[in-house]
Amino acid sequence: LMGYVGFANLPNQVHRKSVRKGFQFTAMVVGESGLGKSTLINTLFNTELYQPKEVLPPSAERPKTVAIESISADIEENGVRLRLTVVDTPGFGDFVNNEESWKPIVEDIESRFDSYLEQENRVNRQKIVDNRVHACLYFIQPTGHSLRPIDIEFMRRLHTKVNLIPIIAKADTMTDEEIINFKDRILNDIRHHNIHIFQLPTYENEDEEALTEQEEIARKIPFAIVGSNQLVHTPDGRQVRGRAYPWGVIEVDNEDHCDFVKLRQMLIRTSMEELREHTTAVLYENYRSEKLLGMGV
Ligand code: GDP
Ligand code: MG
Repeated sequence: LMGYVGFANLPNQVHRKSVRKGFQFTAMVVGESGLGKSTLINTLFNTELYQPKEVLPPSAERPKTVAIESISADIEENGVRLRLTVVDTPGFGDFVNNEESWKPIVEDIESRFDSYLEQENRVNRQKIVDNRVHACLYFIQPTGHSLRPIDIEFMRRLHTKVNLIPIIAKADTMTDEEIINFKDRILNDIRHHNIHIFQLPTYENEDEEALTEQEEIARKIPFAIVGSNQLVHTPDGRQVRGRAYPWGVIEVDNEDHCDFVKLRQMLIRTSMEELREHTTAVLYENYRSEKLLGMGV
């Protein structure tokens, strides 16, 4: 495993001020129950993001998520502080009627906007805590077909409030070819339904290397993800985080096996600042002006 996260070496240095003050970054996971949302959070936190003093036993599984809950970790690297929070949401699909299962999630996102707005309106605005959701990972069932009506409904409810990042869950259940075709269909559906997903900027960056990295990440969207904290043995004798099958081992941290590494790179390194900026300048700003209009201001 790599020894550091990399946010201290962010290629884009527009954020010097936030570097000094420390970052607050919040990501949320959304999707049907059982798709591996809680597992992905563990997978993210158990690597560079968070080095627990006690390593979790391999059998440790998270209980079913029944309420919106968040997990935070303070990470410091080369003198740069990051408070990373991941918000876990209960999955839909457990109830006969899932019609409004997006509602508590949208309300949670809005209440975070409200809290920010309230702090901005205070006389003393020195210590604003930014708990807004900067990225929302939307988990898509690995059906190989296309987006389901409930996915479209969820994404359309969410896309004006958060940076949506679509993810194909449990990608180890699909072949490489199936994944490629599925990605195409998902992107077509997203276009067809006018859903706005987060776009990596490809201009702005004069740094050739950073630009290439961003393009490589952008090509992977929607990310095909495998989550696991279990250590398994590969045929060539390595011990890796992954999932073992009779036909072989799928490695979480191997870029030839899934897009987990690219997703993490995007969240923590290449696009963290962009995700924060878009949240502030577009998503929050829209929410704020609508709210003020609603109040007749
Ligand atoms: P959640 O309801 O979305 O939070 O899903 P969980 O994280 O609780 O996972 C549900 C089940 O799926 C558990 O048994 C996990 O071990 C399993 N699981 C999680 N991620 C993956 C994955 O990437 N691939 C496969 N095959 N199973 C997974
Ligand atoms: Mg869960």
